[in-house]
Parts: sequence; C-alpha cells; structure tokens
Amino acid sequence: MDWNLDSIIKDSKKILLLSHVNPDGDTLGSMCALYSMIYKRFKIKADMNVVSNIPYNYKFLPNVNLAERYFDPSLVYDLAITLDVASIERIRDSETLFNKAKIKVNIDHHKTNSGFGDYNLINDKASSTGEVLFKYFKEHNWEIDKDTAICLYTAIMTDTGNFRFENTSSSVFKAAAELVDAGANPNLLYKYCYETKSKNLVLFQNYCVNKAIFEHNNKIVYTTVYKKDLEKFSAGDDYTDGIAETLRAIETTEISFVVKEVDSKTTKVSMRSKHIDCAKICSTFGGGGHTFAAGCTMKHGMKESIQKLLSEIKREI
Ligand code: AMP
Ligand code: MN
Ligand code: MN
Repeated sequence: MDWNLDSIIKDSKKILLLSHVNPDGDTLGSMCALYSMIYKRFKIKADMNVVSNIPYNYKFLPNVNLAERYFDPSLVYDLAITLDVASIERIRDSETLFNKAKIKVNIDHHKTNSGFGDYNLINDKASSTGEVLFKYFKEHNWEIDKDTAICLYTAIMTDTGNFRFENTSSSVFKAAAELVDAGANPNLLYKYCYETKSKNLVLFQNYCVNKAIFEHNNKIVYTTVYKKDLEKFSAGDDYTDGIAETLRAIETTEISFVVKEVDSKTTKVSMRSKHIDCAKICSTFGGGGHTFAAGCTMKHGMKESIQKLLSEIKREI
C-alpha cells in the first residue's frame, strides 16, 4: 500500500462515508468506527450515508443516528469512502455522489470487489471490513477509543456469525480481545445484535423455514419470500437475514438460498454453502460476495430466478 489515509483525510474538508444497501453490522459498524476515528483524530465531522433503513438492532451503534438517507446530489465531496461495499451498485443512487468526489477510497474484504476506488484497501483474507480497519488503525498507531471499539467489535462479531464462521481466525480473537480491553462489552453487544428480535421477525422466519423446498437428495434447500409474505408479517428489509444460515445448518445441506420477490421482474437472492463457491454462482447473475456467503439481484420473476439458480447450482454441485 503506497498511500495512507492520514494524509488523504488531512487534506480533505468534506468527507462522505458510505455503507451498502440492506446494511448489516459490518458496513454500519465500520462506517461508524471510521466516523469516530476521523472526528477524534482530525476534528472533522464526516457525513454518513445509508441507502436503506437501519435495522432496529443496530440503532445502538454510536453515532449511527447521524447517518442520512438522502444527500443533495449537487454536493461535491473532497473524499468519499465506501465501507464493506462489494460492488458499486450496492450504494444505489449514491454512486453519482461517490463518483463525483475528488478522491474515492474503497475499504472492503470481499474477494469479488473490483477495486473501484482511486485507492483501495481490500483484504479478502480478513473476516470483515471491521477487521481491515482494526489492522489499519493498529499499523498506523491510531488509538482506538471506546466508541470505535464498540463499532469494530460489532462489525467483526456479526460478520463472523458471532465468532463461528470459517472466517473466525486467531487474529479475529486477538482483535476482539483488544477491542474488549478498549471498552467493547461482549455480552451487551451480543444482546443488542442477537436478542432484540421482534415477535413478527421470529414468526416470519419460522414461516419461511417451514415452507423450505428440498432438492437433490436434500443437498439443495431453498425458500421463497413473496411480497405478500412480507406484508403479512409487516416485514422490514432485514427480516430475511439469517434464514439461509438456518437452512444451511441442516446436516444434509450443501447449499441453501432464499429468493425474495422485489417486484414482478426483480428478485433478491441470499446464498450460503458448506463447500461450493457461492460467490462464483452469484457472479454469473451479476452479484458476488464470499465463497460461502454471497448474493445477487436478478432481473427475473420468482419462478424464473429459482429455475436459473437451480440449474447453475446443479452445474457446481
Ligand atoms: P447477504 O445474503 O445479503 O447477507 O449477502 C451475503 C454476502 O454477499 C455479503 O457479504 C454481501 O456483501 C454479498 N452480496 C450480497 N448481494 C450482493 C450483490 N448483489 N453483489 C455483490 N455482493 C453481494
Ligand atoms: Mn456487509
Ligand atoms: Mn463484511
């Protein structure tokens, strides 16, 4: 890496931090961690952009309430930084704002990231964007305060599935230990992230799991989420998070996916696997992600999306 954030930030007055659509703990935690850091070190209040609703369980993140949905499209930022954004479409309409910025930085850990920034800090071996930031802060002696620690711990905890997924390396535990020393409370943060589910969310997820379809000797399992299902349970954007993991946890499952109806010609897919490369499958439909967790948006109706996904999966299985 022949550039450093220090000098880029120092030379900037107006800074924009951007998180991805349907935000998770990693994108929001990383964005808020960098916000705190920039404020503490440089006394600059960056703007933060979210492009869809912030899930209720992440509202505790320090400063997340300052993040805004819409910005004046005529604004020109000195510096714009994406966090955990695998591909530029994931910031939706804010792409224009990002592209107009004088300097564009892309901080991420997805192996499918194309490196769309002027400067890219991408480590596909890292568990999370939170861990990428943690390493950067340590290497550059940026002292981590309590607010930053809370945000980074949340980013790492959620992207490792609470320290259980295959990306849970010893460096994850080392980072977590340091973040606890810096003020992150593991039990409290666990409760915020995993034990604040609404009754509707639990009932909705069980309903979706209940109607799962098993194929290929139970190796492929998927479920469907129609608009009418979402309406019935007054579901938020984040209600489907975790369903694909529940289906993958079945002993016989090799690959699981959830297909959500966006409109009659658009679906959103979440895919999880034990051995098969999900990112490769999702890339064929314009999406991407990680080997065992990926996603895509398909420009087809539900039936056609499922058919196309199944035939692509059967090629890989
Ligand atoms: P999700 O199923 O939405 O939790 O996403 C699983 C992983 O795939 C996450 O790391 C996402 O960032 C990534 N991902 C999901 N959808 C896309 C997409 N359309 N393009 C690129 N990466 C995606
Ligand atoms: Mn993410
Ligand atoms: Mn991530």
